[in-house]
Formats: sequence, C-alpha cells, structure tokens
Amino acid sequence: MSHVLIVGGGLTACTLAHRLAQEGVSSVLLEREDVPGGLIRSEHMGGVLYEPHGSHIFHTEDEEVWRLANRMTPFNDYRHRVDILADGQVLNWPILLSDIERQSRGEEIMAQLEERKDVDATARAQAANFEDWCLELMGPILYERFIRPYTEKQWGRPARELSAQWAPRRVSVRWDNDPYLFPDPYQGWPSGPNGYTDLIDGLLDNELIELRTGVDVTLENLDDHVREAGAAIVVLTCPLDVFAGARFGTLEWRGILVRNVHIPHVDYAQGAMVVNYPGLEFPFIRVHETKHASGQQCAGTVLGFEFTNAPTRYYPIELPHNRELNTRYQDFLREQIGSERTFFAGRLANYLYIDMDDCMRQALDASDDVLAAVRAQAANT
Ligand SMILES: Cc1cc2nc3c(=O)[nH]c(=O)nc-3n(C[C@H](O)[C@H](O)[C@H](O)COP(=O)(O)OP(=O)(O)OC[C@H]3O[C@@H](n4cnc5c(N)ncnc54)[C@H](O)[C@@H]3O)c2cc1C
Repeated sequence: MSHVLIVGGGLTACTLAHRLAQEGVSSVLLEREDVPGGLIRSEHMGGVLYEPHGSHIFHTEDEEVWRLANRMTPFNDYRHRVDILADGQVLNWPILLSDIERQSRGEEIMAQLEERKDVDATARAQAANFEDWCLELMGPILYERFIRPYTEKQWGRPARELSAQWAPRRVSVRWDNDPYLFPDPYQGWPSGPNGYTDLIDGLLDNELIELRTGVDVTLENLDDHVREAGAAIVVLTCPLDVFAGARFGTLEWRGILVRNVHIPHVDYAQGAMVVNYPGLEFPFIRVHETKHASGQQCAGTVLGFEFTNAPTRYYPIELPHNRELNTRYQDFLREQIGSERTFFAGRLANYLYIDMDDCMRQALDASDDVLAAVRAQAANT
C-alpha cells in the first residue's frame, strides 16, 4: 500500500517523495508528461547539455536545502552573471557604476544617480508602482534604457500598472561594481553528466517511490487513482483551476516559450549564460546558453530564445482576484477530498513564483505536515 499520492512530478513533488521515503513512507507520483522534472529538467541536443524551459541557477541561503541538493548530485561553483543589450552595446545586468561612463549621456546619468543617492530606501519601497520605484532609484535615462522596455515586454502592460512590491528583488544599481546577480552564500549548477535531471533522478532513487508518467490527474479521476494506489493522503503540486475543471474560473499567468537551437560551429555563442534583449526590435526577451554554467567540454552549443506572452503557466499575475481564486480552489478541494488528507505544495498549487530552493523548502515543510497526518491515521487504525 502507498501512503501518499502526489499529483505532479516536478522538483516539489520529487523532494517531497524523497523526504517521505527517508521516513519510511511510500508514495506514488503521477506525472502528466513522459518524464519527471517539470520546468527544471535538463536534456541534450547534438550532445550539448541544455535546459528546454530556460536556464536555472541554484542559489540559496538555506543550508539544509543546499546540502540535500548536493547529496543528490554535486554542484559546481558557477556564479551567475547576466549581460544586457542596451544603448547599442553589451553591458552588465544589474547596472554597474563602472559601465556608466561607457554609455552615451554618461555625465547626465551620473548626475541623476547622485541626486538620488540619499533617497530613503523605506520611502522608496512605498512607491506607488514599479515605474515610480525605479525612477526614484536611478532616474529617467537608465530607467528608459534598461527597465521600461524589458518590463513591458515581459508583462505586456505599462510598468506604471505593476506593483513596486517585487522591484527591490529585481532591480538595483551596483555602486560596488559587483557583476554577479545573486548574493547568496550557496550557488552553483549541477556538475554531473545530465544537469538538473541528475537532481531529479537522485531524489526519486528510492524503492518506496513509484513514478507513473503520462498520467493526467483531475478531480474527476482522482478517486480511481487513489483507490489504485491504495493511498490515504493526497498532495497536489499541479494547477488547481485546471485540476478542478475551471469551475470557478481560470487563474491568470504570464507565459514564456523557449525555442532551442543547436549551433555546431562554435564553442560559445554569447558572453554570458543569459543575455537580456529589452529592445522592441527583438522579438525575444532573453537568450540562454546553459554551457556557461555546465562548463561542459564539447564542440557546439545550444541557444534558447525566450519569447513572452505564450499560453504557458510561468509567472503568476499577482492581483487580489487571482490570489482569492486560488484560495477558493484550495478550500473547495480540501472539502471535496477531505481536509485531513489534502495538502498543497509548489509553485502551481500555491499560485506563486518561487525559486528552486524555496520550492524544496516548501516540499520539506509540507512533508512534516504529511508525516504528521500519516502518523495520526496510523494511530487511529
Ligand atoms: C522562466 C523561469 C525561470 C526560472 N529560473 C529559476 C532560476 O534560475 N533559479 C531558481 O532557483 N528557480 C528558477 N525558476 C523556478 C523553478 O523553475 C521552480 O521553482 C520549480 O521548477 C518549481 O517546481 P514545481 O515542482 O513546483 O513545478 P513544476 O516544475 O511546474 O512541476 C509541476 C509538474 O506537475 C505536472 N502536472 C501538472 N498538472 C498535472 C496533472 N493534472 N496531473 C499530473 N501531472 C501534472 C507538470 O507536468 C510538471 O511536471 C524559474 C522559473 C521560471 C518560470
């Protein structure tokens, strides 16, 4: 008998199943696709390791999560640097002070930065919207050059309509010229032959875990799967509106699509793993080249061209009605499946953008609740 049925086979589901297995609890993972791993799976094209859904950098402050990931597959010491094509040249992202003099109107930009140097950071955090926040940080020239076109291409709406809430995590001017994107103490990329797929395979490598692929689970067919697995507990890591037949409406997401191309003639095709293309003259927004992080020694490379506005579920649109709708689905599903045996984890079921480390942390925390429920059920039988 399997104690736990997990819907989905992404990083959240695999981390959860791994933790349960370590505690002697078996699980069945039902994954819609033919392979597990969700967004983070790595693959090969023309012998080159690449990421079909765009590049992923593991960066965290969470030591437990970092250790767990490294037990599954060793990570290298890659540190993430991003380039941006702005003002007709390739510059560093985030903006470096040392790059300002390379730009046109450098003196005006410096004057605008100096004027803002003493703006109170807390007051800035309360700016009315994303545009105001950025203008207060860097002034109009840098904002128009680096931020507005990229943001509007990304979100498909004016930057004034976006919340300032997440701006501090994404936008900065580096007075210390530190070129790396993330400050976290633990950073890297899987150094094994199969990238993140080795992380997924490592997590699933336990006889108490059974993975079934090509299975699309819905509320309608859930009972059949629960019976077949003999499961007492259900964990959903899938989108809840789709799972419940969109009966209360559809959650809004901003999607991307990455088109990957193998280039046999060069070892590297660009100067960094990610290059941002804010300009509207480019139909894509970013270009990914995983080889910078994998360090793979081979001929050829793979570039991933990222296009926005695709019908995929990548970035939740953080508006109150979407948050309320997801909560309504969670309440409804607890009621339908049973509140003591229903759990939610991961980016889709919680309608969140979360990085891999947060998603592993969520899975570990959810596994504590699941284990408590398994033990409570055992005590009652
Ligand atoms: C564009 C982008 C870039 C990112 N870059 C980074 C980065 O650099 N660093 C970082 O740390 N994080 C990054 N992330 C975040 C990272 O991708 C996520 O944290 C992680 O993949 C979430 O895993 P998950 O299991 O919650 O979701 P997913 O990976 O989406 O897995 C969900 C799984 O459930 C399956 N499924 C869905 N519905 C059903 C169903 N009804 N029945 C059966 N199976 C179903 C899906 O097929 C999928 O395999 C990025 C995310 C995005 C969108």
